[in-house]
Amino acid sequence: MPNIDLHSHSTVSDGLLSPAQLVTRAAAQGVEVLALTDHDDVGGLAEAREAARREGVRLVSGVEISVSWNSHTVHVVGLRIDPTHQALQAGLSVIRAGRIERAKRIAAALEARGIPGSLEGAYAFVANERLISRSHFARFLVAQGYAKDVRSVFKKYLVKGKPGYVPHRWAELETAVGWIRASGGIAVVAHPGRYPLNEGGMHALLADFKEVGGAAIEVVSSSHTPPQYALFSDYAANYGLLASRGSDYHGPGESFVELGRLPNLPAACKPVWHDWPEFLS
Ligand code: AMP
Ligand code: MN
Ligand code: MN
Ligand code: MN
Repeated sequence: MPNIDLHSHSTVSDGLLSPAQLVTRAAAQGVEVLALTDHDDVGGLAEAREAARREGVRLVSGVEISVSWNSHTVHVVGLRIDPTHQALQAGLSVIRAGRIERAKRIAAALEARGIPGSLEGAYAFVANERLISRSHFARFLVAQGYAKDVRSVFKKYLVKGKPGYVPHRWAELETAVGWIRASGGIAVVAHPGRYPLNEGGMHALLADFKEVGGAAIEVVSSSHTPPQYALFSDYAANYGLLASRGSDYHGPGESFVELGRLPNLPAACKPVWHDWPEFLS
């Protein structure tokens, strides 16, 4: 089985490497098939494709869409999408506008708790002016000495219940899956183990996801423990969902799992790439 990594980020969203640098690093790590899946933006795919041709990596066009499902934020990865598709592009642009509006509310919330200047501060870490994320706030807060690293700054300031967290409504599940499918792509629930759902909640999410045309879930992810690989392999089998593998790499120093280094899918899984032309050669 080729080394395949179907979840990664560049500076077009909240990664630390440019699309070309990311692809070069993936090649050096032995990744043969890579999906670039920036949050809510497909603007890095052209550069990544060019680099992939140079490096001999097979690039899968991807995106990671922010979704609100019930009271939860859920991420849906789209694989083998067409980045030029109109409805997909228009939808992502609405989500990005929502991010800019949310960023202002985050900055106001932090200011009210005695942390001024975080909007400008976060933008200093943004490479793509169209896309601002909590990760950029995190990098600003770390640089200002509010916490020792991005992980602890999230825990202290940026998650639900903390000073810099504000509620936000993202795209609807059905809408996001619809854009992915309309553009020819496959919809994948990203890192299902990260959502604070009990068993009933996970069943409800996967049933709704299936219902609206979702096709796969990430089974092997840097967000999962080995017991969760087995757990989500079982969920995939029970719901007739395909399985994906992705590091969710964000860059050196911030991601502790390197590109292409996770274990293979459990043998019981049907891989999301089982019928992809990328694998016929
Ligand atoms: P956003 O989509 O702007 O709300 O930001 C979400 C991103 O923040 C995720 O994709 C991760 O890259 C990062 N993130 C979320 N939670 C954490 C955490 N606890 N520790 C480190 N990074 C996190
Ligand atoms: Mn991220
Ligand atoms: Mn995610
Ligand atoms: Mn991700």
